[in-house]
Amino acid sequence: MAEINKGEMLYEGKAKRLYRTDNPDELIMEFKDSLTAFDAVKKDTLAGKGAINNQVSALLMGALGEAGIESTFIELLDETHSLVKSVEIVPLEVIVRYEAHGSLCRRYGIEAGTLINPPLVEIGYKNDELHDPFLTDEIAALMGLATLDEIARIKYLALITGEKLKEIYLKQGVKLLDFKLEFGRFAPRTDKWGGPGQPRIILADEVTADTCRLVDAATGEKLDKDLFRFDLGDVGEGYKKLLAKLGG
Ligand code: UDP
Repeated sequence: MAEINKGEMLYEGKAKRLYRTDNPDELIMEFKDSLTAFDAVKKDTLAGKGAINNQVSALLMGALGEAGIESTFIELLDETHSLVKSVEIVPLEVIVRYEAHGSLCRRYGIEAGTLINPPLVEIGYKNDELHDPFLTDEIAALMGLATLDEIARIKYLALITGEKLKEIYLKQGVKLLDFKLEFGRFAPRTDKWGGPGQPRIILADEVTADTCRLVDAATGEKLDKDLFRFDLGDVGEGYKKLLAKLGG
């Protein structure tokens, strides 16, 4: 692997940091050991969590890439760092649900565990101060967050990503109940003719136990951030088990 320079820090979020590289189309993503829930009202750190999430996301995004679903993930650099494509993030949280849990039940009084078939795709405004409010396509377009065409593409990509993720997890005895994705606009500046390339919507951010609701298919044991949200058990053990099941 060529030596990649970790440049200026561009962004620090709740779970990750992003750094420049010498290539304008590529950034370094660092996974932190912090855990947050309920818009960061509940916070903690867990040694080793960043390394686990970096590997889980790399395994899952790598498998999605092999299935033809493009994401920002390029390669693992070390325990807590990955090389990723630089995108303009679309400020939407895209949630796909196969069973009703969490905010869907709180909002509408739907009974937890209700099967959802065909799956439901929801979009929310990525904004902690406003608590990520639920959006319709039209409101998202009105706010200029994305065009209606982009939203249609994003929802389609979320559904096919979910089909592949469900399959990958189920092969390892893990059931996917719901998950959150983010997407970005990728317009490479350094294609072989010197760019700029046409922007396209690709999967961004991370796919980890922080962003998926997961249970062991045989035992029903939780393997995701609900362990932390509701103090249901050893979060580190749950995250480690998931990584082991995925072959990490
Ligand atoms: N999710 C996420 N980030 C958020 C909100 C939700 O990763 O800011 C994930 C969450 O882990 C779950 C799914 O999206 O897998 C659906 O979450 P829900 O809307 O039910 O909210 P929750 O009750 O989990 O906060």
